[in-house]
Amino acid sequence: MEVKVDALVVRTADYGEADRMLTLFTLQNGKLSAAAKGVRKAKARLNFAAQPFCFAEYVLAQKGERYTVISATLTDGFYGLRQDIGKFYAAATLAGLCDAVLQEGIVNEELFLRAVAALGQMCEGDEAEALLSFFLKLLELSGYMLDLSACADCGAVLEGKTFFDMAGGCFTCADCARGAGVSESTLNLLKKCAGEEYDPALLSQEGKKRALKLLYAYFCRKTETQVRAAEEYIALL
Ligand SMILES: [Zn+2]
Repeated sequence: MEVKVDALVVRTADYGEADRMLTLFTLQNGKLSAAAKGVRKAKARLNFAAQPFCFAEYVLAQKGERYTVISATLTDGFYGLRQDIGKFYAAATLAGLCDAVLQEGIVNEELFLRAVAALGQMCEGDEAEALLSFFLKLLELSGYMLDLSACADCGAVLEGKTFFDMAGGCFTCADCARGAGVSESTLNLLKKCAGEEYDPALLSQEGKKRALKLLYAYFCRKTETQVRAAEEYIALL
């Protein structure tokens, strides 16, 4: 049987002489693994379709639970991500996060569309902000939404120095002060990336690293998984 899916490559693993196992995040069927035979040969026709973050329409042969790539038509290769190490690792983080939260066969159209849009934004603009926006959405869709606007304890507007309680997944104001301290610039950047009102004067490069560290630590705690690319990207920031 043949199936046609729109998919994003979120993980690759080489095996055999020239083959590669692809983990595909598909729009129609959720996550699945597909063998791509001979794609590591120098002139392989499907070489492009076996690269990280390749977005293509794949035709797969299905035999029971096993899939093999027959052909692929490129939708977007996101080549801009391959020319900059920061962009590459930000994209690898996005792919790793998707891989970690997706269960085989569970369809998640919204996350798929957000992932594709975020990769496009990473090519064009600030990859750290695109990743943070995607990360906040992924947490929300996974049931770990963060409230960036009000103190979880007293309801006061969050501004200035705030605190984040990792276990509870909530921010508190300086008076309630539960958890670890969060700088004004970190919270402000998270607000920007969540599409909320923010103060441009408070943004800083350091805020990107701290914001990503915070989301990633929270993600690890909630999902009990790690994403190596995220650690490498945080180190690069
Ligand atoms: Zn409070």
